[in-house]
Amino acid sequence: MESRKLHFASALTSQGWQEDVTVAVDAAGLITSVESSSRAGERVPGIAIPAMPNVHSHSHQRLMIGLAERAGPGADSFWTWRETMYGFALRLSPDDLEAVAAQLYVEMLKSGFSVVGEFQYLHHQPDGTPYDNPAEMSLRCMAAAEQSGIGITLLPTLYAFGGFGGQPPVEGQRRFINDAERFLGIYERLEAESKGHALRRVGISPHSLRAVTPELLREEIAGIAPDAPIHIHVAEQVKEVDDCLAFFGKRPVEMLMAEFDVSDRWTAIHATHITVRETSALALSGAIVGLCPTTEANLGDGIFPAVDFMKARGAIAIGSDSHISVSPAEDLRMLEYSQRLRDRTRNALAGEPGQSTGRTLFEAACKGGALSMRQPVGAIEVGKRCDIAVLDSDHPSLIGRSGDAALDTWIFSGGSPCVKDVFVAGRHVVRDRHHISEEQIAARFRAAIGRLSS
Ligand code: ZN
Repeated sequence: MESRKLHFASALTSQGWQEDVTVAVDAAGLITSVESSSRAGERVPGIAIPAMPNVHSHSHQRLMIGLAERAGPGADSFWTWRETMYGFALRLSPDDLEAVAAQLYVEMLKSGFSVVGEFQYLHHQPDGTPYDNPAEMSLRCMAAAEQSGIGITLLPTLYAFGGFGGQPPVEGQRRFINDAERFLGIYERLEAESKGHALRRVGISPHSLRAVTPELLREEIAGIAPDAPIHIHVAEQVKEVDDCLAFFGKRPVEMLMAEFDVSDRWTAIHATHITVRETSALALSGAIVGLCPTTEANLGDGIFPAVDFMKARGAIAIGSDSHISVSPAEDLRMLEYSQRLRDRTRNALAGEPGQSTGRTLFEAACKGGALSMRQPVGAIEVGKRCDIAVLDSDHPSLIGRSGDAALDTWIFSGGSPCVKDVFVAGRHVVRDRHHISEEQIAARFRAAIGRLSS
């Protein structure tokens, strides 16, 4: 791509809100200058904000949105939902996964995300036999990212056991399971595919403390790049906390902190059920908490102590996880509302008096998300990648709004329909609410749904 200049009437830069901002982008898609009071570039109408990293995705779960919202014969829970999800996961072919992921990534881009953290645990054929290329399914997610133009941090999942203490996996988990050596083989192939690719990074995702033992995880960490990100589901469910306590005599986050050198290389996904002591220890460690507020609400997980965690300067990021909703605005709104409903307050996460809740949450999730994904994004500033979302200042919700009021209105009311354009590495992938490959990707998605429902 050629170097180019983009001119926005208004932009949220790392210097705050600025008017008439010209952003210069080099051939690699990195920002080389940000000038205010300058109309030098190609004019893009609207309000420019950093595009958001989405740190937690299981692409295949996009297939079951809306299909688990009916009361079952017994009490519905996360665990009954998981049975439905396993049913879908067992049928998906590599072509199906690629088609579903590409559709999902288009939806992410159109809502204002520019990077996805793919926590990918469907490794093998439906009967559990590895594909000829053991990284086949993860490579399909990479291919889907390429087709859509989104940045991707691929986090192949290490899943070895069915429960705490090395219990054997259940039937529904047979596509997920690897031993140490086979897993590292997958990681290495993905690393090789990412070398020199500006939009790709690779890390690992030990599924949970249920699915790995500390010894196994230590062995894997020794085998990966020293700065590769590590994501883990932790303390999402009360049952998981109880089982961990019964087995190890420690709660999951407590256990993680005791066994590993937890730092900003780590992202704790959910961390819903944590004590006051775990909250401050996790914040101090520098680890990012990857919150998925609409999925956590949909699954009835519980409420993360975000007020205490953010007061302790803990780093947060957001993810769409099961994709029941794919929108940075909706997830940030749900996060704030969960705290308001629990505490019967307003503006629970705004920080200092007078600060905008939307702005505080948005900037925190951009910063934590970039760190979690290990990608140079999340801010409009020199040296970052030119990943920018543009809100439509002519959308009825945003008319007469500017600065923090526009951001608050988008997050608390307007949502995805307000996102008009999205750039990834300076490439205009969503133009006037239309993704550049939308029709082809949707056609392949429709064909995959046809195959899966026949
Ligand atoms: Zn998850």
